[in-house]
Amino acid sequence: MVEKACRVCRYITSEGGKCAACGSEELTEKWSGYAYIEDVANSEIGKSVGAKVPGKYALNIK
Ligand SMILES: [Zn+2]
Repeated sequence: MVEKACRVCRYITSEGGKCAACGSEELTEKWSGYAYIEDVANSEIGKSVGAKVPGKYALNIK
C-alpha cells in the first residue's frame, strides 16, 4: 500500500484516507524523506514538525 503524508501535521499513514494523528483528510503521496519520531516531547525534529504522536513524519511535502 502507498504511504501518504498528512499535509497538516506530516504524519505518514499507510491505511485509510485519514491521518491517524490529526484526523485530517488532506493526504498526499508527494512527499520525500521521513523521520521516525518515538519520543515526540524530546525530539528536535518532533518539535520542528509539531509531532504529537509517535510515528513516521515526512520531512518534505510537495
Ligand atoms: Zn495529520
